[in-house]
Amino acid sequence: MQLVLVELINGKCKKTALEAVAFAAKMGETTALALGTASADTLQALGAYGIGKVLHINNEKLNQVYSKAYTKAIAAAATHVGADTVILSHNSTGRMVAPRVAVRMEAALFAGVNELPGNDTIRKAVFSGKAFADLQMSTGKKVISLNPNSYKAVAGTGTASVESFSVDFADSDFDYAITGVEDEAGGHVPLPEAEIVVSGGRGLKGPEHWGIVEDLAKALGAATACSRPVADIGWRPHHEHVGQTGITIKPTLYIAVGISGAIQHLAGVNQSKVIVVINKDPEAPFFKAADYGIVGDAFEVLPRITEAVKKLHAGA
Ligand SMILES: Cc1cc2nc3c(=O)[nH]c(=O)nc-3n(C[C@H](O)[C@H](O)[C@H](O)COP(=O)(O)OP(=O)(O)OC[C@H]3O[C@@H](n4cnc5c(N)ncnc54)[C@H](O)[C@@H]3O)c2cc1C
Repeated sequence: MQLVLVELINGKCKKTALEAVAFAAKMGETTALALGTASADTLQALGAYGIGKVLHINNEKLNQVYSKAYTKAIAAAATHVGADTVILSHNSTGRMVAPRVAVRMEAALFAGVNELPGNDTIRKAVFSGKAFADLQMSTGKKVISLNPNSYKAVAGTGTASVESFSVDFADSDFDYAITGVEDEAGGHVPLPEAEIVVSGGRGLKGPEHWGIVEDLAKALGAATACSRPVADIGWRPHHEHVGQTGITIKPTLYIAVGISGAIQHLAGVNQSKVIVVINKDPEAPFFKAADYGIVGDAFEVLPRITEAVKKLHAGA
């Protein structure tokens, strides 16, 4: 029996939560644990992803992540339903909470999992995404954190039952104060959840040229990202930095503009389904990792692609 954590944002299930739910349901009978405020309809809809029952702690304090409170809630729910396996997303919440849950349950931790190739076998990327390792899970109790965008959540039919659940929280479970939350994505699709990402590098020469990246992203409904030096120089905010020392993403389509393709950059993006590289240097290393490459000047190529996408959307 599994327990999966459903993270909520503004009363809705996060995309990463739906991925974790679908992944867990594929492993077998799963109960979901939802923390924070959400409507019954939202939680019942998890049935479409293979969930029979949802335990709901309807406590608005849990709309923010408190690692101690989350750990306590997850461990209590796992005991309540007799779950030997806990599954959650390997996002910032999962990275913070999964090890704590594993300690509390005396379980093995399988962090940053990509796939489930067989019964009790998980696959994860190793060596900065250059290889995959298959691990046989031989422990009775396990905590698995699933890499965002690794598993596609496809809705079927079905309705889950929702049961109210409570845990005795102490004040010390909420041992820091979250005084405000800033939406860094400015209302746009958050980078880790984006299906399409347009990313710019030092080849764009300055922050004043980012309009061409944003125009293409807007036309495609994509998020924007950047290489590390671009964030380091302050051309773009740090939350857009992808790579070994930044965010790891796995969108369906990654468009890299004016990025050389250093190994540290590739580590964060090389699991993208389709990679398109636009670079004026035909010898740029990124072309080796690309599915499609355009050798050309970004300042000429990008506006033309944006125009073509707009025409396509307009049905012209
Ligand atoms: C420990 C460590 C960790 C690191 N972590 C990261 C990380 O997480 N993420 C990351 O990105 N980097 C990381 N780096 C840095 C990495 O090694 C590279 O230096 C960096 O990715 C290069 O950024 P860039 O491709 O934007 O710039 P450059 O290497 O300067 O490449 C610019 C590219 O733009 C092309 N170009 C120039 N003009 C045009 C034009 N008009 N049109 C089209 N193309 C053009 C050039 O041909 C070139 O290929 C790390 C480095 C170290 C040592």
